[in-house]
Amino acid sequence: MSSPDIVILGIFVADTTYRAERQPRLGETILGRSFSLGPGGKGSNQAVAAARAGGHVGMITRLGRDVFADMALDIWREAGVTSLASTHDDGQTGAAFIFVDDVSGDNAIIVTQGIAAEIGPEDLDARRAEIQGAKVFLTQLEQPLDAAHQGLAIAREGGVQTILNPAPATELPDAMLALCDVLTPNETEAEALTGIAVSSVAEAERAADTLLAKGVGAVIVTLGERGALYRDATRSLHVEGLDAGPVAETTGAGDAFNGALAVAFAEGLDAADAVRFANATAALSVTRSGAAASMPDRAGIDALLERSRQAE
Ligand code: AMP
Repeated sequence: MSSPDIVILGIFVADTTYRAERQPRLGETILGRSFSLGPGGKGSNQAVAAARAGGHVGMITRLGRDVFADMALDIWREAGVTSLASTHDDGQTGAAFIFVDDVSGDNAIIVTQGIAAEIGPEDLDARRAEIQGAKVFLTQLEQPLDAAHQGLAIAREGGVQTILNPAPATELPDAMLALCDVLTPNETEAEALTGIAVSSVAEAERAADTLLAKGVGAVIVTLGERGALYRDATRSLHVEGLDAGPVAETTGAGDAFNGALAVAFAEGLDAADAVRFANATAALSVTRSGAAASMPDRAGIDALLERSRQAE
């Protein structure tokens, strides 16, 4: 297999989803309605999205030696993601407990990162050759910050394009922002980074300007069904979202967007076309349930883009 064009640092967690009429109280046991097990973790979801969208993808993370690790390796193999993960006997693979209230549909979640909580700069140092041999490096913030920082620094040093998806929402040091060629917050994350509440395109532009002033190369604020705003020092583009059919579930839309964006940049598309490609991928993902399972393939993405061009 060819060496990865896209290297992604992130975590895998096994999502264990329980549906019941209500939450059990402490000390109580109740019977639930259903259970499902599926792959999750933003980094892993983005890797699957990127591979299905046509990218050659390598995934850096830590796994335990357990059934959830087997699940991660299986889903990556199926999607064509190259594992750059290390396996550890002294820790577990991440897992999430997701309680879904059957009546309201609301959820309550516990995520345990397992051994991925211990990913550190040394994990990135060990993959320096793969990172610097790629065209794009992409990461998020589910693993420790110092690991993300080191990955961005190694990529920058090697002239590799860096994308940081700042999720989950948090504040970030300016030194880290300055290492980002592209930063991709959603509205909540843009607010956490800048203190500017974002619910309109104009507000997204203001938040983006604050981030550009801190040394970010370009900011892409994702705006749900309204698509995304791309802004750099010279351009501001609002790229409308696409309608790919009835929405089943929006979980994983951001992951589909980021994985596809990495593919588009690795293929050398310009900003407007890259955001259009990412919007199309994410729009298709929301028409299906599940996160990793909802990621569309390249043929489906190209077909949606073609239909939307003809409709213009
Ligand atoms: P969000 O994280 O909600 O900003 O969504 C990320 C991306 O997913 C957006 O930039 C859109 O490209 C896409 N997206 C989210 N929700 C929808 C939707 N209802 N219809 C079409 N595209 C969507």
